Amino acid sequence: DLEEKPQRIKRFHALMMFTKVNKSLNLQNKFQVAMRSLAKHGRFLEDEVLVLHFVSDVGSQELGERMLQELLLDATFLYEVVFHNVDTLTEKLFPIVVAMQKHFSAGSGAYYSDAIFFLSVAMHRIMPAEIKRIVQLDLDLKYRSNIRDLFQEFNHFSPEAVIGIAREMQPVYRHTFWQYRKDNPKSHVGDPPPDGLPGFNSGVMLLNLDAMRRSTLYNQLLEPKRVTQFAEKFHFRGHLGDQDFFTMIGMEHGELFYPLACGWNRQLCTWWRDHGYGDVFQLYYQCDGPVHIFHGNCNSPIPED
Ligand code: UDP
Ligand code: MN
Repeated sequence: DLEEKPQRIKRFHALMMFTKVNKSLNLQNKFQVAMRSLAKHGRFLEDEVLVLHFVSDVGSQELGERMLQELLLDATFLYEVVFHNVDTLTEKLFPIVVAMQKHFSAGSGAYYSDAIFFLSVAMHRIMPAEIKRIVQLDLDLKYRSNIRDLFQEFNHFSPEAVIGIAREMQPVYRHTFWQYRKDNPKSHVGDPPPDGLPGFNSGVMLLNLDAMRRSTLYNQLLEPKRVTQFAEKFHFRGHLGDQDFFTMIGMEHGELFYPLACGWNRQLCTWWRDHGYGDVFQLYYQCDGPVHIFHGNCNSPIPED
């Protein structure tokens, strides 16, 4: 039988927030470091395509399209670029996440424009059903490994897990959960690894959209009533958007999260070391094993190779 099998193209979806980039040289520099290192280390098979999604405004999109041509010249793999308009996504997102905003946004009101910081939380309802998995990535990253290997981590999810995410590497949630920790001195909430629950960092996230769509528990936790119940129980008041929500529900439902190794999101920010937490800082900051991705959060410089 000489009939040729049609080559089935396999798409790997990655999404980045990409707003106001045209207004910030700082963000443009981060974008360059991220895309050049991603191109340099990325390896895919012949029938595979890396799809890069950017959530963007018109000005940033124009700049991004121009810059990407040059930044991805070294890529040895096939790729596609898709821009999504931030206002269109915000419109869809706002009704789903408005209840979260008062607990996990800066300021007190539920500002329309803040809804986009919760995109990952409702990504399964925003992206078309053909997209089964997507990774969401910050721009202030430097890749040292093949990004294809990150997608392989989806295969290690337990049956209940919907999101893969690395732990937060500063004692920020030790601070946020201060009241709850005082009232519940035996709890591990906010304690450092390996036995504690230090919370999550949203710089690198594996979103199993199919699992998020199927999970009754996860979708219940998105309901405004449940969000409020949780926030009250934990006395939670944050300003870090999706990462606050995931951290809070993770305290009670760790089974929803696949613990991504710290080397896949090696955060470099040390702000909390110098703001009252110097004594415990290293317990949180320490990350053994290979660094696959550096995350220069809070504008931290990333080491040269
Ligand atoms: N971002 C953006 N425009 C901005 C600020 C942030 O598109 O004006 C995106 C960008 O992808 C960035 C992410 O939001 O990586 C999170 O912000 P940042 O990395 O600065 O936060 P940090 O990791 O320092 O907490
Ligand atoms: Mn970041």
